[in-house]
Amino acid sequence: TQLIKPRIREILSRELPPELVSMLPKHWVQIGDVLILPLRPELEPYKHRIAEVYAEVLGVKAVLRKGRIGGEFRETNYELLYGSDTVTVHIENGIRYKLDVAKIMFSPANVKERVRMAKVAKPDELVVDMFAGIGHLSLPMAVHGKARVIAIEKSPYTFRFLVENIELNKVHDRMTAYNIDNRDFPGENIADRILMGYVVKTHEFIPKALSIAKDEAIIHYHNTVPERLMPKEPFETFKKTAREYGYEVEKLNELIIKRYAPGVWHVVLDLKVFKR
Ligand code: SAM
Repeated sequence: TQLIKPRIREILSRELPPELVSMLPKHWVQIGDVLILPLRPELEPYKHRIAEVYAEVLGVKAVLRKGRIGGEFRETNYELLYGSDTVTVHIENGIRYKLDVAKIMFSPANVKERVRMAKVAKPDELVVDMFAGIGHLSLPMAVHGKARVIAIEKSPYTFRFLVENIELNKVHDRMTAYNIDNRDFPGENIADRILMGYVVKTHEFIPKALSIAKDEAIIHYHNTVPERLMPKEPFETFKKTAREYGYEVEKLNELIIKRYAPGVWHVVLDLKVFKR
């Protein structure tokens, strides 16, 4: 989070009604050289000029208005307010992430998890990332952890960036990408570690994860949970499903990633599964 730059306020206070100046966004997210700006509805008539001033002062090439993320592919629907090119390379933790910020999510709130994954991965283990995106979580595992990675991404548009990112980060010898629905992935009993970086419906993919897992494996299981069901969930559901498929589960760790909606949390569990 940043404080509003005095220069932005100075320019816009000459152009906007005074009561609107105090509503100018004080926080924003910068991904590469693209800005995501939350704008109150009152600022609607001035949105393009506001975006232009933020772009000039902060030195970015495009500005998007913050909106929702949704659908199977977790796509963003951010309105373009300034500039035209929303494809950028964002560098974080020594990783180059190329993406189209207007269409593909990249959550600043997930940074801790991206950094953590770089540390848990072990050299030469086989990681299967069932919801790879642009390689959000698995690029750090291949680059820093020297793990071998199979990255599965269903959206053709996101997949293009995943493939480019493998090249950009020079991990093509360790990382392979598949543009398929992970339920159609043919590998069985192969993974030492599985990433399930998805929300809302992740539990529907537990049986598939278990079939990809070796007889003993680690699964990083993300999901969204209503607060009133915590801390029993999401572990209970995972354990129940795993038992139906002949696996025992041990919970090694549980972390909160972020608030997903009012009263709903995005959490990740580190789970050790082993065949009975
Ligand atoms: N795991 C990363 C993270 O936590 O930052 C990225 C999550 S990303 C938003 C989830 C990705 O899973 C999306 O790119 C979406 O297109 C993909 N996806 C959704 N359903 C899928 C499926 N059945 N098979 C493969 N990929 C899928």
